[in-house]
Amino acid sequence: MSIGVSTELPVSAGLQRVIGQVVADTPGPTLLCTASLHGNEPAGLRALEQVFSRLQADRPPIRGEVTGLLGNLTAVARGQRFVDSDLNRLWSPEMVVALRAGDTSATGDTEEREAAELLAEIDSVVARARGPVFCVDLHTTSGPSPPFATVSDTLRNRRFALPFPVPIVLGLEEHLDHTLLGCLDLGCLDGEGRVTMGFEGGQHDEPSSIDHCEACVWIALAESGVLESPDSLPLVLEARDRLSRTVKNLPKVVEVRHRYALKACERFLMLPGYVSFQPITESDVLAKDARGDVRPPEAGRILMPLYQRQGDDGFFVVREFRPFWLAVSAFLRHLRMDMALHWLPGISRHPDRPHTLRIDRRVARFYALQIFHLLGYRRRRIEDGTLLVTRRKE
Ligand SMILES: [Zn+2]
Repeated sequence: MSIGVSTELPVSAGLQRVIGQVVADTPGPTLLCTASLHGNEPAGLRALEQVFSRLQADRPPIRGEVTGLLGNLTAVARGQRFVDSDLNRLWSPEMVVALRAGDTSATGDTEEREAAELLAEIDSVVARARGPVFCVDLHTTSGPSPPFATVSDTLRNRRFALPFPVPIVLGLEEHLDHTLLGCLDLGCLDGEGRVTMGFEGGQHDEPSSIDHCEACVWIALAESGVLESPDSLPLVLEARDRLSRTVKNLPKVVEVRHRYALKACERFLMLPGYVSFQPITESDVLAKDARGDVRPPEAGRILMPLYQRQGDDGFFVVREFRPFWLAVSAFLRHLRMDMALHWLPGISRHPDRPHTLRIDRRVARFYALQIFHLLGYRRRRIEDGTLLVTRRKE
């Protein structure tokens, strides 16, 4: 069975921004699912269609709201990742303001138009919310992969994501600027950060990727509290069972250690046969480019090897993050140990940004970045030779 969308379809034919929507009479949480921000990833769209038709047929008791939104209509109709620019890399605070004002580039960028329409729908879902808002963004990968979740490492996001029976990838957001989830997580819409989780269902055209995305949405309905009695629903139990069978023997939590970013004209070619979470060593040749063999800077496991032409992440290297350290970091964050970090030599508070520390790396080279990660600091950036790390609101 192929889940590809025919490229012969006229642009956006038959596709609608709102895939499905159920607003319950009883107030409660909101679950906002987005799918196909990348047009060559139709599995999330198909999965949401299936969930909404089941919700309509079975009518399980729900409270609050669940809405499914389609990301890039034009690119889905064409079966390609994007038309002019990546719809999942443009969500800066400035762009959100420009999109709302209808004040985007005069170049007629397809994705800016898509983003303006999508943002209008998200704004109305958020404005209508009668409880916490949970955001789940469904994706698939170009290479073969078991399903996994990507989580920006705040305690509230962990609480939501850890019950999903799939590996959790922490720290991807540190490497990807201006994603939609990053924007929702940081509160770019209205200053209030939302609970967010990304989900990768498997390879783009694998029929099982639809099943994995559908399972994710059922579990999200349960974990967000939108379903009133999830444990009595066989669909939720089946969903948990289906995902846990697929990811047997994989680590529960991994942390991104390295992103291999593609530069233009490098003629990057991933060698065949790599699968997400496959162990790799420093001597493994993963890909070729204009300069020759590409090896990882450290051993670990490979994540999302690039097997498509569009996109600029060659691959990621991840490493297991032991549950013990998860517990330690939750404990340290509850104690607000981060309040004392600037007392250490070489570390100072940023004068203008309240949650940002400046690290003089000549003095503070002995504090591993890991310590800052444990305390919830991410988003490293170098400015004037100084390392900046910013902590997200828990
Ligand atoms: Zn994607």
